[in-house]
Amino acid sequence: MTNNISGNKIRSDFISFFEGKGHTFVPSSSLVPGGDQTLLFTNAGMVQFKDVFLGTDKRPYSRATNSQKCMRVSGKHNDLEDVGRDNTHHTFFEMLGNWSFGDYYKREAIGWAWELLTRVWGIDKSKLWVTCFKDEKGEIPTDEEAFQSWQEQPGINKEQILYFGRKDNFWEMAETGPCGPCSEIHIDRGEKFCDKKGKKGHICQVNGDCARFLELWNLVFIQYNRTSPTELAPLPATHVDTGMGFERIVSVLQNVDSNYKTDLLLPLMDVVLSLSGQTEEEREADLTPYRVIADHCRAATFLIADGVVPGNVGRNYICRMIIRRASRFGAKIGLADPFLAKVAESVINIYGTAYPELTKNAKNIKDNLTREEVKFHSTVEGGLQILESYIKDLNNLDEKVLDGERAFDLYATHGLPLEITKDVLEEYELGVDQEGFFQAMETHRINSGAGKEFGELGGEDAEFYSHIAKNLIKEGKIPPEGIEQNPYIEEEITTEIISIIKNGQEVKEICDGEMGEIILERTNFYIESGGQVSDTGQISNKNYENLFLISDIRKPAAGIMVHIGEVEQGQFQIGSKVKLSFDANRRQDIRRNHTATHLLQYQLRLTLGEHVRQAGSLVAPDRLRFDFTHPEGLNADQIKEVEDKINEKILQNAPVSIGHKKLEQALEEGATALFGEKYGENVRTISIGGSKPYSYELCGGTHVSETGEIGTFLVVSEGSAAAGIRRIEAVTGRKAYALTRQRLSSLEHIANLLETPINKVEDSVQSLLIQKNHLDDQLKKMKEKEAISIYQTEKQSVENVNGVSMLSLFFEDIPMNILRQLADFFRNDFQEGLALFGSLAQEEKVQFVVTATDALVAKGIHAGTIAKAIAKEIGGSGGGRPDMAQAGGTDYEQLKQSDLAEYIKKLG
Ligand SMILES: [Zn+2]
Ligand SMILES: [Zn+2]
Repeated sequence: MTNNISGNKIRSDFISFFEGKGHTFVPSSSLVPGGDQTLLFTNAGMVQFKDVFLGTDKRPYSRATNSQKCMRVSGKHNDLEDVGRDNTHHTFFEMLGNWSFGDYYKREAIGWAWELLTRVWGIDKSKLWVTCFKDEKGEIPTDEEAFQSWQEQPGINKEQILYFGRKDNFWEMAETGPCGPCSEIHIDRGEKFCDKKGKKGHICQVNGDCARFLELWNLVFIQYNRTSPTELAPLPATHVDTGMGFERIVSVLQNVDSNYKTDLLLPLMDVVLSLSGQTEEEREADLTPYRVIADHCRAATFLIADGVVPGNVGRNYICRMIIRRASRFGAKIGLADPFLAKVAESVINIYGTAYPELTKNAKNIKDNLTREEVKFHSTVEGGLQILESYIKDLNNLDEKVLDGERAFDLYATHGLPLEITKDVLEEYELGVDQEGFFQAMETHRINSGAGKEFGELGGEDAEFYSHIAKNLIKEGKIPPEGIEQNPYIEEEITTEIISIIKNGQEVKEICDGEMGEIILERTNFYIESGGQVSDTGQISNKNYENLFLISDIRKPAAGIMVHIGEVEQGQFQIGSKVKLSFDANRRQDIRRNHTATHLLQYQLRLTLGEHVRQAGSLVAPDRLRFDFTHPEGLNADQIKEVEDKINEKILQNAPVSIGHKKLEQALEEGATALFGEKYGENVRTISIGGSKPYSYELCGGTHVSETGEIGTFLVVSEGSAAAGIRRIEAVTGRKAYALTRQRLSSLEHIANLLETPINKVEDSVQSLLIQKNHLDDQLKKMKEKEAISIYQTEKQSVENVNGVSMLSLFFEDIPMNILRQLADFFRNDFQEGLALFGSLAQEEKVQFVVTATDALVAKGIHAGTIAKAIAKEIGGSGGGRPDMAQAGGTDYEQLKQSDLAEYIKKLG
């Protein structure tokens, strides 16, 4: 065993070892699980193979190997608080795995695992322990086959083959479904690694839960299908699913006692060390900030590369939260400026070869990190101060838990994620009401109309439909791989009704006026996917006298598709032959918008740059919506260029061609793979532009055959969808025509009002505006003249109170400079005097000046003090010199009530 084998070498050793055993290397899927809405992040190697085990997907290979990017941020496997506080917990990690889909089984899997660990990597055999399954309840057969296979491994210590029960050695995907026994390989790192020595009840042994015995590798043998809590049926084909935590095997092979000391994470902590200027000793004394930063920055780097940028909900929130948490821990060791981009550079260096998406998105990653740090810095100070005051409150009241409402406000108003609030509170041995936080968030979301991020999760009815699907397969009404769906064929097909569902129950027929769901043996409908909405249409009998209008179609469980709608006339029975047709005009509108979406993505990259990546899309009949990563709003020129260039492409009437090929080939040819989309081995490609296509994407949607069919493309809006994400909405075809028609009509109407030809409308409006400005100006001057002449009249009859001349005048729409001019006149005209000139301006704003003559000032009267006092009365503020002050406010009536004599008495 060698100390200087690199992490990258260990990863490639694993993959080439299994390639040598006939396995196909399958690249890691995205951290965003494609098609699986129930999962926030890919959290295990098997996620991308789940459908293969469930029997709803087939692959061209039966042996696979890979290293999978995984994320766990909460839940039973990982609590965020542990990350950074120990040597082993991570948010992001890699899983190495090998799979057999109905191919080899226990004997081979066990033999190869032993061979790789002991012969290739040279791990001391005497240190390895293995476990097999033996049911403590005696219901499931003991896994003697695995036990036997282990006994045959060269050099194994037979005393170190152990049996364990359900908790440790039986694996289940869910309540029901594929499951089976597993076999684990543990390594004994020696007594000194035990971190629970002397702890009450600790027995230092395999599965004893201390750092001495590490589980290295879990081999799962899938051989049963669980149909109920007590029933297991043998599967016709058996599978192998193995997982080895990458960071852990690297720590073992590099002979270090912490994942953070491996060459995967130590270099990141070194970057932080050099930035903080601390000494190695200081770092050793408090490793937590270093570990948190290394872990979180690595995770954020991978997330952003997979298109998950910082934001407010779901995955984007997680990305924001870990960046902010890392930033706060940075502040604890004196890092005041944004620093994560520098750490990310090191992540990209270490991982860029194995995960080229990091190198490709390097700039985008660093920009996003820095932007988020800056954003956080600008609010965090205030947030932390408020939190400090809450902590004081809690301590004063002798309470231990901060309520969810205030915790949410800290996030919503001051950008302090719940997790950071929790970190800080914990430092004071206080807690936070997390449930209350999410309630407050929910209320806020509903109030702001933002809706739920993930719609309906899986659907509560998945079980009901799975049951229907299974029966239909059993009865031979649909093939085991499910109903055939081909949305690319003709508008109308003939098929048969195989199931009808009404009020959540299977029924034999459905009658006039009733709503329900119909399952057909095949369908030509498109089901919402890749942003394109589902088709609508109808089911009818031969002569169209029976009619079922379809408003939606969905796939509630693997294998079946239900057409949802209402019987318009007649009735339908199970077994009837029917015609199924989608709304062809609507489909045509959708096709236009889908092809236009591809042109838009292409053109945005040309106009804005290669960093533009799709972050969401909607292809509906009436519009298209495209979200993409870009740091700032588009200016009018950019929008115009995008629109112009796309319309040029439309006029060129370029062919749109569909291809079917291997994923690998398509990617090699440079096809754009859409983020978050799950691709099988065989993919469908859409290219626009003929033999030298300019747009080339993997896509399962429906498209026009020539760009000319799109008609016209018009951008209707551009705005922000989330931090770092822009949204463009556009229309094409019939909608674009309707919009153009509507705008032209409105222009014609304006021309009529102006009594001018359309081509003169602009000039005509221009000259109207000039006239208006001129009139406004004249009006203003007249008012000013009038104000002065009013003053000249009113000064003849000023009030005299105890020898002081007092004048108050009020106007409308008189600017400040004129009020000041009146004040100057007044000071010239009177010996001992005090005056107030006020004006009500537009939008109910009030302004005024107070002036006192020099003689009065000499007697101790201060215009500023008086102005201030009056302003207070009218809901405003102001002040100034002793002889001249100006102020503003809102209550004009109150201002008119002001009595200068009173103020002299009060303040003079
Ligand atoms: Zn121990
Ligand atoms: Zn597409």
